[in-house]
Amino acid sequence: MRGDNPLRPQDLSDGQRLWVQEVFYTLQGEGPFAGQPAVFVRLAGCNLSCFWCDTEFESSTWRPDLKELIAAIERVRPPFCQLIVLTGGEPFRQNIGPLLESLLALSDQLVVQIETNGTLYVELPESKRIHIVCSPKTASLNQRLLPKINSYKYLIAAGQYDSNDGLPIESTQRAGEITRIARPPADFQDPSLGIFVMPIDAASAEASSANTQAAVKVALDFGYRLTLQTHKITGIP
Ligand code: SF4
Repeated sequence: MRGDNPLRPQDLSDGQRLWVQEVFYTLQGEGPFAGQPAVFVRLAGCNLSCFWCDTEFESSTWRPDLKELIAAIERVRPPFCQLIVLTGGEPFRQNIGPLLESLLALSDQLVVQIETNGTLYVELPESKRIHIVCSPKTASLNQRLLPKINSYKYLIAAGQYDSNDGLPIESTQRAGEITRIARPPADFQDPSLGIFVMPIDAASAEASSANTQAAVKVALDFGYRLTLQTHKITGIP
């Protein structure tokens, strides 16, 4: 979208129908489940507008009810696939609680990963099979979401991180503006298990390469885990 998407407010209807961009089967490309076959459910709309965001989440007018959405997921999910990724846009912009209940009921082994910018919150079922990956884009995070976050993922650009902790200091909403992006709480678990750094995919190959080198450096210097966008490297969706 490259920063030109409308800012969508949180829609807290009953969660029986959701705005969905697309449902597809692929390999999870990044973060704690990288390499694992997964069904992606890309929810429509975002409450932020990051100037480098290259994800399409605005062009769909599909608003299935839960039965229709679960059927679409099950149509593409092979029996061995036990990972569903809710992404966006911003998943917490809508009431995803009822969808989570339905997904967890599909199989005892099934895990649902939610990818979020960490600014919004809705009640979710209590389950160890929900894994929340927060990729902070703002200076603060939603305080109710904070204790439920399992992993953090930071997007790294060359020259735009704090030399004291290796994490971003550039605004995601306005290029060139300094904003100290929210850090994990001080009591967050071992950073080598739960904090990922990923280079920003820039407009030019040269800038992308510099970002990759920067992400490698902060992983080595601060003990984070490097994650690459393997779906882009391998050319899968
Ligand atoms: S929060 Fe995520 S989906 Fe929303 S604009 Fe930023 S990068 Fe794109």
